Amino acid sequence: MSKSLQAIRGMNDILPAQTPVWRYLETTFAQLLDSYGYSEIRLPILEFTDLFARGIGEGTDVVDKEMYTFLDRNEESLTLRPEGTAGCVRAVLEHGMTGGGQVQKLWYAGPMFRYEKPQKGRYRQFHQIGVEVFNQPGPDIDAELIVLTARLWKKLGLSDSVTLQLNSLGSSEARATYRDALVAYLQQRFEQLDEDSQRRLTSNPLRILDSKNAQTQALLADAPTLHDYLDEESSAHFEGLKARLEVAGIDFKINPKLVRGLDYYGRTVFEWVTDKLGSQGTVCAGGRYDGLVSQFGGKPTPGVGFAMGIERLVLLLETLELVPEELNQPAHAFICAFGEAAELAALGLAERLRDALPGLRLLVNAGGGSFKSQFKKADKSGARFALILGDDELAGRVVGCKPLRDDSEQQSIAWDALPECLAACLA
Ligand code: ATP
Ligand code: MG
Repeated sequence: MSKSLQAIRGMNDILPAQTPVWRYLETTFAQLLDSYGYSEIRLPILEFTDLFARGIGEGTDVVDKEMYTFLDRNEESLTLRPEGTAGCVRAVLEHGMTGGGQVQKLWYAGPMFRYEKPQKGRYRQFHQIGVEVFNQPGPDIDAELIVLTARLWKKLGLSDSVTLQLNSLGSSEARATYRDALVAYLQQRFEQLDEDSQRRLTSNPLRILDSKNAQTQALLADAPTLHDYLDEESSAHFEGLKARLEVAGIDFKINPKLVRGLDYYGRTVFEWVTDKLGSQGTVCAGGRYDGLVSQFGGKPTPGVGFAMGIERLVLLLETLELVPEELNQPAHAFICAFGEAAELAALGLAERLRDALPGLRLLVNAGGGSFKSQFKKADKSGARFALILGDDELAGRVVGCKPLRDDSEQQSIAWDALPECLAACLA
């Protein structure tokens, strides 16, 4: 194949062998959110660049290095969404959905785009399922978000493979005071910081806490911690959340260095992490962003949400061999027809069977072929029965029903009796 016909690096095709597990995750999630009273919202993939620059924040990796930004034919700067929260906030504001303190509990799913270094669990087009709640300031809703993700892990069989990390970032004033203290501490050790962290010391110092550099991490061991600067209200909020998680029986680990990569978070932040996927171990991450809506020009509106990476969850299910076997269901029956008249009759028969049995997975041979070749196709399809239709069967309004998965005898079944016979094997 010519080189020009390759997918873009880091942007993957999801092939038929993989789509069942994707659908399984998506439907499990959709049903779960439905049961907690969350509604789906579908948002554009392209937004004005300014939305992300203002929302996620200059100085973050996402905005500075990872966005797919281009000018459209009208010379407007557009960006393929790197995440879903900014677009969701834009949409609720645009449609007046949060006015007068209206509560919104929303979820979305779809592709996100970031120019990152592609590797296992990290791609340039990846998919998230996300949840956002507006106008609920209390720790009760933060707890609900965590509780519902825990229930998802339970449904997927992942409860023992993920752990919850939790932190509170406090109010923006508390963060500003802490930021000054952290900068003062690190400034004195500037030469020992890695290059990225040196740059961040002016642009986005809290991000240094998240550095992967061992020497920087060692320096941070004695640095001031955010908790010493937490304001009273945030502290009480955090206690409220912890108390609820304890009641719900959800274990967590406080990680004072958990800061998240996007600028809009305050108070609660959390991540669900697995040790089964190497360094791309965060499968779900979120937090509270009470300041974001007003940053976009709306009235102050509390917000909290999370997003999970579908690729990482698929990888995790595959690694742990937790993909349910019944996702790959073969056909119940395969109709083989021989001769023009039988072929015509097969179409009508197949449609009548589909009318009678909506859950039936029925394949009909296409393209003619000998006895041998049609049987071979029927067998390869995995179907349980081959239904055989030739001139003799046509004359007698019967089909030959040959079991393909055991040695039982072929039987002749009247067309009228077929739905009932197949219903038995559907059950
Ligand atoms: P990371 O630290 O792994 O880069 P992040 O903090 O940038 O993650 P978020 O913006 O919070 O990630 O996105 C939420 C989730 O989306 C992540 O926890 C992860 O599961 C998934 N995710 C983020 N970036 C990618 C990517 N490039 N490829 C695949 N999944 C991703
Ligand atoms: Mg990232």
